[in-house]
Amino acid sequence: MEGCARICVRIVEYRPFVGICVSAPIPDLPEIAVYVPDVQRYESMEYRRCGRSGIKLPAVSLGLWHNFGGADNFEKARAMLRRAFDLGITHFDLANNYGPPYGSAEETFGSIFKKDLQPYRDELIISTKAGWDMWPGPYGNFGSRKYLLASLDQSLKRMGLEYVDIFYHHRPDPETPMEESMGALDTAVRSGRALYVGISAYNAEQTAQAVKILRGLGTPCLIHQPRYSMFDRTPEQGLFDVLGKEGVGAIVFSPLAQGLLSDRYLQGIPSDSRAARDFFLKKKNVNESMLARVNALNEIARQRGQSLAEMAVAWVLRDARVTSALVGTSRVAQIDDNVAALRNMKFSDEELKGIEDVLRREA
Ligand code: NDP
Repeated sequence: MEGCARICVRIVEYRPFVGICVSAPIPDLPEIAVYVPDVQRYESMEYRRCGRSGIKLPAVSLGLWHNFGGADNFEKARAMLRRAFDLGITHFDLANNYGPPYGSAEETFGSIFKKDLQPYRDELIISTKAGWDMWPGPYGNFGSRKYLLASLDQSLKRMGLEYVDIFYHHRPDPETPMEESMGALDTAVRSGRALYVGISAYNAEQTAQAVKILRGLGTPCLIHQPRYSMFDRTPEQGLFDVLGKEGVGAIVFSPLAQGLLSDRYLQGIPSDSRAARDFFLKKKNVNESMLARVNALNEIARQRGQSLAEMAVAWVLRDARVTSALVGTSRVAQIDDNVAALRNMKFSDEELKGIEDVLRREA
């Protein structure tokens, strides 16, 4: 059921904590769409502690990298955010350059936030990032204090927020001293622009260094955002160990390998899929040997009574050091499917071995 109730009423009293509008019909008023979130939204979602912090994140979070830009359908984006919140997804992840065009996913989010989510600001964890190319010239990329703080100010404006919950450095900068980038994150918190800070794409060694600097500044690193899925297991080679030891959470992006780990490509490349756009997910990667592996994994998922997307989400969450699986979606039904992973999170040794055997096959 979609969370949107289209109601032609005068709101007499609004009680956001129970999601109830006490209302009276007024026939001569224009129709207004009032979003009333599902009152049961916290009942089935699992919330996992983020490292050794006070924050819990939903086991499934929603990222706005694709399908929320200015070039995308606004009402579809709105329906996905509503459905996500209805299902207990309290965390939405953005970055300065999500779109296209750059910045437009934050604008879309800001607009939907204002229409639908503003009364629930204190129920939401909203993150953004800076670190990749954003504007021309020497101050619109990488990791200088100048870039990170200017970008955060722009992000807040686009989203219409007073603060973000998490501000990330999106990638390490080989030229800027890490002390400067981490100092900018610390300033973001001390100036009230962010509540917590995180890093993304830092390797294990860089992460250990960043965590130490941030701790010294008195602004602990809340979270790391690495790519992790059955098809990319890099964080298992040291990063998760550092995060576990330091008490830093992990929110893993592209847990479905951009859609490969789902039923999306079992019958070829659909014209409305990410691979069809041949940019971030290349058509050449959806090849015969990849599809053979995907089909074999799909069979294991089927035997578990899950879709492959569900199994892919459950698989990344099998490691207790992973706080949240950060999925993307192009339609409402995919959100339901990904959250349904929570119904079967346990893997038998035999299932795990079966998955390993498939992953070891030549790609
Ligand atoms: P996913 O691996 O979840 O891929 C999302 C895509 O998979 C969707 O767009 C859709 O593809 C397909 N899909 C999702 N759910 C289903 C389903 N149930 N059934 C079938 N297909 C499905 O993640 P993303 O690559 O989108 O990344 C998620 C988020 O991670 C981003 O939005 C962003 O917030 C973050 N991220 C962070 C990065 C960083 O550097 N820190 C880099 C990249 C992402 P289709 O569109 O074809 O339908």
